[in-house]
Amino acid sequence: MIVLVINCGSSSVKYNLIETEEKRDLCRGLIERIGAVTAIVKHEPAGKDGIKDTRHIANHVEALQEIMDYLLSPENKIISSPDDIKAVGHRVVHGGEMFKDSVLIDEDVMDAIREAFDLAPLHNPPNLKGIQAAKKNLPDIPHVAVFDTAFHHSLPAKSYLYGIPNRLYRRYKIRKYGFHGTSHYYVSRQYYKLTDKPREKTKVITCHLGNGASVTAVDGTESVETSMGFTPLSGLVMGTRSGDLDPSILFYLVEKEELQLNSLHALLNRHSGLLGLSGYASDMRDLIAEAKNGDRRCQQAIDVFCHKVKQYIGAYSAIMNGCDAIIFTAGIGENSPLIRQKILENMDQLGVELDQKKNEAAKSGQIEKISSDKSKTEVYVIPTNEELVIAIDTAKIATASGQSPWV
Ligand code: ADP
Repeated sequence: MIVLVINCGSSSVKYNLIETEEKRDLCRGLIERIGAVTAIVKHEPAGKDGIKDTRHIANHVEALQEIMDYLLSPENKIISSPDDIKAVGHRVVHGGEMFKDSVLIDEDVMDAIREAFDLAPLHNPPNLKGIQAAKKNLPDIPHVAVFDTAFHHSLPAKSYLYGIPNRLYRRYKIRKYGFHGTSHYYVSRQYYKLTDKPREKTKVITCHLGNGASVTAVDGTESVETSMGFTPLSGLVMGTRSGDLDPSILFYLVEKEELQLNSLHALLNRHSGLLGLSGYASDMRDLIAEAKNGDRRCQQAIDVFCHKVKQYIGAYSAIMNGCDAIIFTAGIGENSPLIRQKILENMDQLGVELDQKKNEAAKSGQIEKISSDKSKTEVYVIPTNEELVIAIDTAKIATASGQSPWV
């Protein structure tokens, strides 16, 4: 089945056209700066030269139209009719407590996504905009929402409750939700194919290290702990996000710098993390290059990042009483032997021994085992593929009848 996967930001639409039986990408692309004077349009058909162009694209409906025009254009020969696309899968960041699975989108589901606007003000509104725009362009086929939070629905109360008055959870649903669910789900499932151990007895720690970053403990197929929380701001130090910090710092800052709420929000979400620590860049490649040139702050940013990941791996090993495998994925996790090595050094007490040569030689885009044969805990690099999870879930739901994924 051919599925169009869509991931909408406030001024961007990312898409993948995927053939789900063969798990094959037919085309992917990105439209950025929607609503600005000129948008940037990129299309990359599989096995052919892509295009990069600039033109005005007023809104998400026009962006979807641009995508359809490209896919249907006779020169590109990607699809010959809109009917070739059988379903659309939408990445939706926050499913609140409502969705434990992907779901066919109807008016009720759109209302529920709207209800979660408060919980994910940066993500859910553009996600819904994308759904509305895609429904306008492709009104006669099923549209499915796949939630970043769904895989973490299995978190036990002792993990998702914060140490604040319980009425705040009951009244406002303030709790840990966890994010990057499709990625943690996908790489843990890829690992099950590599081990003889029954999956119900397998304990895995998945480290999704990209611009956004999170660690998850997957015990017997279920997410039992994860580093992101009520929003994707907590946990690890990220590209521009602070990760965990003592909440008292906020009161102190409000007093000292007379910051307003929106400035605090920007400080922690956009000016912190690797960028804030280094004062130089949020991109790990830039930091590694500058640290090699002797920049102390860039080195410190890298050290803090790795320390935090190590801390979570230790905590999650304790929570699961051991760990069969540690998995690295996403931009940094898949591509940086240096960062993987720094995270895993001196972890022999946890039964982790990296094979330096395998770690250095690991090829980008491939599944690679990088632990030594003696290591009690296996270590793998497994490329993530969130779009494929969305496409397959969408195909499953679009063809199923009478399924009720509501909790
Ligand atoms: P997101 O999808 O969250 O925007 P990605 O998963 O694409 O992020 O990861 C982006 C991060 O991966 C950036 O910090 C980038 O520097 C880092 N990265 C990509 N390739 C490498 C590499 N070879 N070495 C170190 N970091 C890398």
